[in-house]
Amino acid sequence: MSNLIQQNILLKDYSNFKIGGPARYFLEFKSLEELKAGLAEWEEIKESGDFVGEKVFIISGATNILFNDAGFDGLILHNTISLIKDCGDGILEIGAGTSISELNRYCTENSFSGTEWSGGLPGSVGGAIFGNAGAFGGEIKDTVSEVISFDYLSGETIRRNNSDCEFNYRDSVFKSKELSEIIISAKFQLKNGNHDEIAAAIDKHIDYRKRKQPLEYPNIGSIFKNVPVGLAGSDLIEKTKEKIKNDPFPVIPTAYLIFLAGLVGYKVGGAQISEKHPNMIINATGQATAADVKKLIAHAQKTIAEKFQVHLEPEVRILSEDGQYLSHF
Ligand SMILES: Cc1cc2nc3c(=O)[nH]c(=O)nc-3n(C[C@H](O)[C@H](O)[C@H](O)COP(=O)(O)OP(=O)(O)OC[C@H]3O[C@@H](n4cnc5c(N)ncnc54)[C@H](O)[C@@H]3O)c2cc1C
Repeated sequence: MSNLIQQNILLKDYSNFKIGGPARYFLEFKSLEELKAGLAEWEEIKESGDFVGEKVFIISGATNILFNDAGFDGLILHNTISLIKDCGDGILEIGAGTSISELNRYCTENSFSGTEWSGGLPGSVGGAIFGNAGAFGGEIKDTVSEVISFDYLSGETIRRNNSDCEFNYRDSVFKSKELSEIIISAKFQLKNGNHDEIAAAIDKHIDYRKRKQPLEYPNIGSIFKNVPVGLAGSDLIEKTKEKIKNDPFPVIPTAYLIFLAGLVGYKVGGAQISEKHPNMIINATGQATAADVKKLIAHAQKTIAEKFQVHLEPEVRILSEDGQYLSHF
């Protein structure tokens, strides 16, 4: 058999939620070359008849994914391409598997300004580009000048500039390509800044997250997107007007709706709506299952729809056994 592709790897060991059954096949790659070599092994596995179909899913930090209890009956690609290269003129080339904390450490040490908003953001550069991660008024799209991806179905390497990435609210072109394109690296355009000011801004955001987010428990961040004001009725807007914020357009914070609905602390099995941040679900016992979390998500959606006539749309990726997303959520 192969030597790059492993079998029966428990996804909970990679998940920030500590939830998930085994991946039948698992390929960890540190470079594009290693990815290509692993994919050649994948072709051999399929040609041998050991696996039929094309079930492939890419993960990086797994801080935004709910895996399934039954695991994944296909190939999980785990991107660990970690690289930061100074290309001059404020441009950094960054491997997609580089963690945001490593990027911020590098930027602080070398006085590059532009990513301070992401202080404390879990996960990798690739995951952040995929979902155009944002916080504290900043978004990854603000500094990305180029993204290189690899389409494993066509074997093509693709370069996109910022506008070709079609960044939007927690969205990018990569979401529509997610079952074939893998982000390999990106160039960031940064400015020269002041070391102490950069460090202070990053630390401020890390400190805020420690105070406001349940970081002491396994979790995958905000479960639902905030509710655009345009989708809410006039009663709900009136009831929540003090809390409406720009994110980057006017939204009603979902955490506030969950609080108003009396769901804070609500539990299903080992999963619980966080008391510290009501839009987050924690693995309170360390033994929560994906089924617990999905029931809790469905309960929150039903309660909020009944009380406020709005649908809560998940922000996290929810993986079903067949590798598709649960569209009915
Ligand atoms: C405590 C906490 C706080 C958070 N706060 C925020 C916040 O303030 N703002 C925010 O936007 N998010 C937040 N998140 C969510 C999460 O941290 C970000 O979305 C992060 O950018 C995801 O990166 P990741 O590497 O973990 O991606 P993963 O969870 O591994 O993947 C997420 C999605 O991206 C895809 N993907 C990952 N890597 C690649 C790649 N190389 N190529 C193609 N597709 C890829 C996956 O297929 C998946 O669909 C938070 C999460 C936690 C746990």
